[in-house]
Amino acid sequence: MTQMLDAKKGTITDEMKVVAKNEGVSAEYIKKMVAKGRIVIPKNLNHHFPGIKGIGEGLSIKVNVNIGTSIDWVHIEEELEKLKIAVKYGADTVMDLSTGGDLSAIRKKIIENSPIPVGTVPIYQAGILRARKPEQAVVDMTEDDMFNAIEEHGRDGVDFITVHLGVTKETIEKLKNRRRITGMVSRGGAFLLAWILHNDEENPLYRNFDYLLEIAREYDMTLSLGDGMRPGGIADSTDIPQINELLILGKLVKKARDGGIQCMVEGPGHITMNEVGANVILEKSVTDGAPFYVLGPLVTDIFPGYDHIVGAIGGALAAMAGADFLCYVTPAEHLALPTIEDVKEGLIASKIAAHAVDISRGRGIEMDIGMDRARGNLDWNGQFRLCFDPEKARIYRERRGPSVEEVCTMCGQFCALKMANNYLRGGER
Ligand code: SF4
Repeated sequence: MTQMLDAKKGTITDEMKVVAKNEGVSAEYIKKMVAKGRIVIPKNLNHHFPGIKGIGEGLSIKVNVNIGTSIDWVHIEEELEKLKIAVKYGADTVMDLSTGGDLSAIRKKIIENSPIPVGTVPIYQAGILRARKPEQAVVDMTEDDMFNAIEEHGRDGVDFITVHLGVTKETIEKLKNRRRITGMVSRGGAFLLAWILHNDEENPLYRNFDYLLEIAREYDMTLSLGDGMRPGGIADSTDIPQINELLILGKLVKKARDGGIQCMVEGPGHITMNEVGANVILEKSVTDGAPFYVLGPLVTDIFPGYDHIVGAIGGALAAMAGADFLCYVTPAEHLALPTIEDVKEGLIASKIAAHAVDISRGRGIEMDIGMDRARGNLDWNGQFRLCFDPEKARIYRERRGPSVEEVCTMCGQFCALKMANNYLRGGER
């Protein structure tokens, strides 16, 4: 039984109750929206964890953190440390995108240690394990490899999987005609594109969608319909291959919902600010309100080293327009596998975007008002207590400590707040 099938039957599950309580909405609302497919609760029947999350319409904006090894950097302890940091700084979900080392063992460790939902991209495992065999390559993976990987991830307790169903013969043809500057930047999408062209066959995940739904149903794995055709540079944003893929995904969302499977849709990518809102409206319209999971989006391409800020700007715009779920971007994006510190910086940038949008809708604004009060009263301990990252705030204050404890070294004895408070509150000079 899936959350969606339960909701359709009129049952309010324990998970729906948790989401309702955390979000400050009624369980009835959650049930209704899960039944419609406008809210998903990624929770594999085999994964037991406390941090149940709802993603979608009328809920707070969620943030995902990607972790995982690469072929050049396989340190599972470091990935588990990244997981800890992600949880500490408020990640709602984590995705294991490992491509190096023992992929099954790493995934199991992450699931075992994660108190929040875990997502994966099973096609990585299918392609990489095949490519590790002598004289074989990613394109030699079989349909069985693909579905066995999905089944294994389901059995292990993965809560949501990215599946690139819109990378089809049709969209590839459109991609060829388009002659993009950045081609294709989705790793999973590229695996499938190469497979389809090499084997001259249709995408097996797309062709056997009913079988994919069967597996998802068995474990209540949420499907995240991947955007293999997402633009990899603003020069290619909102183009025909991208939109064609979205139209395909829209049809599959309907089919998944009819089968009682929860699904979200992934979105661009690199797009300029003026196109962000349009992309969100389009996704919501084409998918009848499926939760929109945006990767950034990145709104300019010339700030490597600062792409967490670029992604947060795009994420804030997207969430304001109706996107539900932000995939963080780290400062290492486009440059290297992120470090633990990069994970923290990237996550906080996306959390700022999510929180800024949430409070504009009145959600969680009490903390900000409390901070205003503490600032207004020059109550430094109160400010540290309320701020998102007190460790960092304390470092900054202590780095250049004031001669008068009450103020800070920005204005020193000419502290505007102190002066104005004195006159406004008591007339003291
Ligand atoms: S010294 Fe200036 S910056 Fe610092 S608290 Fe006072 S008004 Fe604010």
